Amino acid sequence: MTDERLAKTVSTAYDAALEVIASVEPRVAQATRQELADQRSSLKLIASENYASPATLLTMGTWFSDKYAEGTVGHRFYAACQNVDTVEALAAEHARELFGAPYAYAQPHSGIDANLVAFWSILANRVETPALARLGAKNVNELSEADWEQLRHEFGNQRLLGMSLDAGGHLTHGFRPNISGKMFHQQQYGTDPETGLLDYDVVRAKAQEFKPLVLVAGYSAYPRRVNFAKMREIADEVGAVLMVDMAHFAGLVAGKVFTGDEDPVPHAQIVTTTTHKSLRGPRGGLVLAQEEFAADVDRGCPMVLGGPLSHVMAAKAVALAEARQPEFRTYAQQIADNAKSLAEGFLTRGATLVTGGTDNHLVLLDVSGFGLTGRQAESALLDAGVVTNRNSVPGDPNGAWYTSGIRFGTPALTTRGFGHDEFDTVADLVVDVLSNTQAGTNKAGAPSKATYATSDGVADRVRARSAEMLDKHPLYPGLQLS
Ligand SMILES: *Cc1c(COP(=O)(O)O)cnc(C)c1O
Repeated sequence: MTDERLAKTVSTAYDAALEVIASVEPRVAQATRQELADQRSSLKLIASENYASPATLLTMGTWFSDKYAEGTVGHRFYAACQNVDTVEALAAEHARELFGAPYAYAQPHSGIDANLVAFWSILANRVETPALARLGAKNVNELSEADWEQLRHEFGNQRLLGMSLDAGGHLTHGFRPNISGKMFHQQQYGTDPETGLLDYDVVRAKAQEFKPLVLVAGYSAYPRRVNFAKMREIADEVGAVLMVDMAHFAGLVAGKVFTGDEDPVPHAQIVTTTTHKSLRGPRGGLVLAQEEFAADVDRGCPMVLGGPLSHVMAAKAVALAEARQPEFRTYAQQIADNAKSLAEGFLTRGATLVTGGTDNHLVLLDVSGFGLTGRQAESALLDAGVVTNRNSVPGDPNGAWYTSGIRFGTPALTTRGFGHDEFDTVADLVVDVLSNTQAGTNKAGAPSKATYATSDGVADRVRARSAEMLDKHPLYPGLQLS
């Protein structure tokens, strides 16, 4: 089909879908329309978001949603799973081919689920299996109560070393309030206080002292590349399993922007990811593994998961097929080029960036130079139609709620076709808002970390300049709802 005919067909499909939805609950249909309008008319710079293709989105809205399929391909605990087998096998095949991974597991519902599957696979492989062999049992059901207590004690005494949240790590990398920080004894590595960069010697020293079972690499808010070959070396030196969580940058791995030492797949024993961030697929998770861990990862259900989301696995197959097209490499390179343009745009306008720049898809702006907290900056930007999220900076004096940073990501607007000039303008708009916003006071007249005031006319001026760019690069070109 030509692009134009395809766009017409997509319009017809969504018109029909919204009519059907409205016949039951019109307010949901209305909110769905409004969400499209809002996404179309704002600058989406949230680093973890993107715009999946209509093919991917439409795949999620089918009767596959109704099917239970606990188990694995060809080995289900439910009857009549032949079509789920087809789509799950396709999703796994595309993932293996795309990333060059020996094994792929497409069932996790989200990034967090993928990480839980990975953690328990590592515990199964490195703690449970040796314990069962020692005790002469085939599985945990055969253990005596005393042996089971002993094994639970062994699970509960394992150590995990991950990147701290304020340095850019994720909640699931051993953050105390998260399950990962509770099921493991955890320690965290940060970044160099001077440069903001990962210091591999510090990671190595921590690993040698702490002797973790799991070394987690990967991040949500670190604007630089990681040398995964070095991380694997460190893991090997202390007998740890290297797990890389590439949730944020999987699109850059898929698009071959990160290769060699920067590609986690050949170096980590287990790689986890989301499928909805830079990878531009449906909301979901994925686990890739070396052969050694394949059988353990395959036990995601019943270890951690129940029934997989069959409709989302089908959409993963569609999105991963898209990511295997040559155009996806162009897209991924443009994501990284655009982040550089955005960073340069900020730097030439005098703003301060964590690590002084970027070489991935995200930019972390320290807004304290504007006299604002992250919370104030985020709100002021949102008033002007610039959608971002506040984020801690290393050693953040304002904590994780108010923060001192704003995180920007380029994957979504790159999907809309934004290039160098547009991202330079984005930097200009952001600086325009922040330099015209003042921190406010609370009711008692004391300085507030939440209230703020932006000078008159700034939000309108920024919206007008955004609209010009957004009109030139429409979201879902040709999709017109009646
Ligand atoms: C987003 C993210 C996750 C969690 O993904 P969800 O789908 O929101 O559960 C896990 N790890 C990292 C590094 C992430 O950035």
